[in-house]
Amino acid sequence: MKTHLKNSPPIPTPLAGLGNIRGITGREVNAIQEQLGVNSTRELIPLISNGRLETVEGLTPLQVKNIRQALKLYKNANSRYLRWDAHLIGEELLRAIGRFPEVEKVLLTGSLRRGKDTIGDIDILVQLSEADRRKLLYKIARMPQTEGIIAAGPHHFCVVLRNQMQVDIRLATNKYFGASLLYYTGSVKYNTDMDELAASKGLKITPTGLVDSHTGEYVAGEKEEDIYRKLQIDFITPELRENHDILNAAAGHHVPPLVTFNQLKGDMQIHTNWSDGAESIASIAQYLSHAFPHYHYIVITDHVSASRDNHILHTEDIFRQAAEIDRINAAMGYDYIKKGAEIDIGKDDNTTLPDEILQQFDWVIASIHSDFSSDNTSRLIKMCENPYIHCIGHPSGRLIGIRNPYPVNWDEVFTRAAATGTAMEINARPKRLDLNDTLVRQAADKGVKIVVNSDARNLTDFDFVKMGISTARRGACNKTDILNTGCWDEIEKFKATKQQLLKK
Ligand SMILES: [Zn+2]
Repeated sequence: MKTHLKNSPPIPTPLAGLGNIRGITGREVNAIQEQLGVNSTRELIPLISNGRLETVEGLTPLQVKNIRQALKLYKNANSRYLRWDAHLIGEELLRAIGRFPEVEKVLLTGSLRRGKDTIGDIDILVQLSEADRRKLLYKIARMPQTEGIIAAGPHHFCVVLRNQMQVDIRLATNKYFGASLLYYTGSVKYNTDMDELAASKGLKITPTGLVDSHTGEYVAGEKEEDIYRKLQIDFITPELRENHDILNAAAGHHVPPLVTFNQLKGDMQIHTNWSDGAESIASIAQYLSHAFPHYHYIVITDHVSASRDNHILHTEDIFRQAAEIDRINAAMGYDYIKKGAEIDIGKDDNTTLPDEILQQFDWVIASIHSDFSSDNTSRLIKMCENPYIHCIGHPSGRLIGIRNPYPVNWDEVFTRAAATGTAMEINARPKRLDLNDTLVRQAADKGVKIVVNSDARNLTDFDFVKMGISTARRGACNKTDILNTGCWDEIEKFKATKQQLLKK
């Protein structure tokens, strides 16, 4: 969608991309070229950061804003979104765009498809015929989610949503949908590595297909898998496309099979209205047994504390809660609900509850909820050495965009966790995603078992677990790395092993 005025001068070719931006004509592009002395968008970018673009005579603030946005220079710390928020909006857009009859296929690409913790903007790839592209642009501009179209070229629309999120929509035909998907999923580093690999075989990866580097002839591109096959390497799942060694693994045909959401047999951190959750145990059990039918068990882990006052399960209520769980299990006909607790790790490296109480629970998570700046290595190790503590909750303590992880010697902690048979959590709350992908890999390499939990307070929170699974996959975890892919017998075995290990 060019917006040239009829009598507008032609746009100099190296700056031609600017002509796709809303409200920019040849006149403005010429003014930029003459007044700033630039001949390409590459030369223009540093001048934009310096504020020089604003000095160009005849450019309105809106035009400047559109150029900055289109060239993605609006990025700052606040413009990254939690993966969960971007995921929800991305899914909504996929459904909206997928409903247009001319759209043959639509998928997320970019960092959202790779499952990064935070997302800059949403990337979408649409398959449709070239003849239908203008029609699609017209419809996207009229979606209720759309605030405006910043740029529209023949292969790409850049859209700003009403919530100010930016969406890049790339267009492909069936012939090269896979090539575009590969190209726009990235990461940048991964694409460079793939380019090198392709070059070594006389090929080149472009968004419109894998081509012969000498003749330019199209070789493959309908599906990503076709390209991997031509390059004679295993398919690499998007979550692993930031992993440095993955191409070697793919060439040697040993890309690990990764854990999937459907393999989870239970959620092992859930809060109810006995502490800081919103729902009763009965409604949680009813909801999960229908909405997550592959779960064999769920573990209720309200905050139990003798020292805190608010939003906790008081120690004198532990038996009343246990009786309620027994009643609901009896009505369900089996022991679906397990009795757990999340306890605070005290400042003095001790648990905040005596062992006699800890022993009552089926599953105990110990978490740091205080003192986030000092080195917490010894506090975490002390928990590993307690026979009644089974898992460390949100081990690094980070809150994305709010709080950095506290200092910990992870090598020491994971070594002790493995030696004592203590699990580490991937807490899947969108702000936590803790452990992160790198720490998960480090822990699993030491032989530490990982538990993926929602840490839910509401019924809608249970879906967070899917994000936790992406984190596990980014950490290259397979089913056996994840403890709660096992049935409850295996959890009991894990606990018994801990008792054995600590007796030695
Ligand atoms: Zn917690």
